[in-house]
Amino acid sequence: MKALMRRSPRPYDMEVVEAPLPLLQGPDWVRIKVAYAGVCGGSDIKLMKAEAGEGAKLKPPIILGHEFSGTVEEVGEEVTLVKPGDLVTVDTLIAPCGHCRYCHSGDWNMCGSRKGVGSSFPGGFAEYFAGPQANLHRLPPGLPLSVGALAEPMSCAVHIVHDQGRVQVGERVVVIGPGIIGLCCAMAAMAAGARVVVIGTPRGAERLAAARGLGCKTLVNTEEDLPALVCEAFDGQLADLAIDAIGSNQAVGMALPLLRKMGRLVIGGVPFPKTDPYQVDMGLVYRNQLSITAGRSSRPDDWPLALQILDRYRRQAEGLIGGYFSIDRWREAFDATISKQMLKAMIRF
Ligand SMILES: [Zn+2]
Ligand SMILES: [Zn+2]
Repeated sequence: MKALMRRSPRPYDMEVVEAPLPLLQGPDWVRIKVAYAGVCGGSDIKLMKAEAGEGAKLKPPIILGHEFSGTVEEVGEEVTLVKPGDLVTVDTLIAPCGHCRYCHSGDWNMCGSRKGVGSSFPGGFAEYFAGPQANLHRLPPGLPLSVGALAEPMSCAVHIVHDQGRVQVGERVVVIGPGIIGLCCAMAAMAAGARVVVIGTPRGAERLAAARGLGCKTLVNTEEDLPALVCEAFDGQLADLAIDAIGSNQAVGMALPLLRKMGRLVIGGVPFPKTDPYQVDMGLVYRNQLSITAGRSSRPDDWPLALQILDRYRRQAEGLIGGYFSIDRWREAFDATISKQMLKAMIRF
């Protein structure tokens, strides 16, 4: 089968190769014929550029791709959760130890021995994928496979907004950065009954238009008095919850003054390559008793909710996909992602 492989520890050493068909390595394993695999503007670009060993996440040679959907083709003899023909997406955290405190609490993303599909376990930029049935989630009936491939970024958004942000009905949420994670966070917050303002750059006008298409209000980060504008958008109140969907010190600096007293900030990422240590106005954090936390990857139980949200926003979610590429044209898909020409570039098999 054709597969996009990160071949060696050398940065940018990527190529489409002819790889062996993945085998079922246990009676509970399933083989999927991959339909769509999204290019991740965060991890996939990092995994292309990173030295292996950096953060120890990348284990080349490895097939990349962690945002994908497909059709179940073959199942092991002990598989009970899916059958051939089912349309599924794949949770990217694999082989958690099962007995550490984080596994016990369902926080697989914090387990020290977990592997990541598409970084240390063969991923979805390939015609076929094989893995344990516990990692599969069936798509809601009628959900297109292309939208199903957005389940991974949406599950990260659910983790940010719900698990870490603890969003409540009626709350006011500010999302900084109208990229795919930011827009997924906006959908997750609105589906929970929150009101959302999305803040972007003047260059990201199309992305802000997409945010308005979801039902959010939008602001541009060059405006003079952002806290006053946020208050105006929220009937005189500052935000209960802010989300840094960019992963930068600048976004954190912008977010904190937009929060009411006792408000919460969730950071959804950090810069790559690493920059100087963050400068944060701890005086403001102290005076207003703000909480700052992070949302990294997702928990297994974020996935069913992520699929429900995608089902509800089916049409808008499909609109976030900017273009489809064959695996042989992966470079164009990566370039369109890096240049921000597309919110989501999809490899189609
Ligand atoms: Zn991703
Ligand atoms: Zn564990």
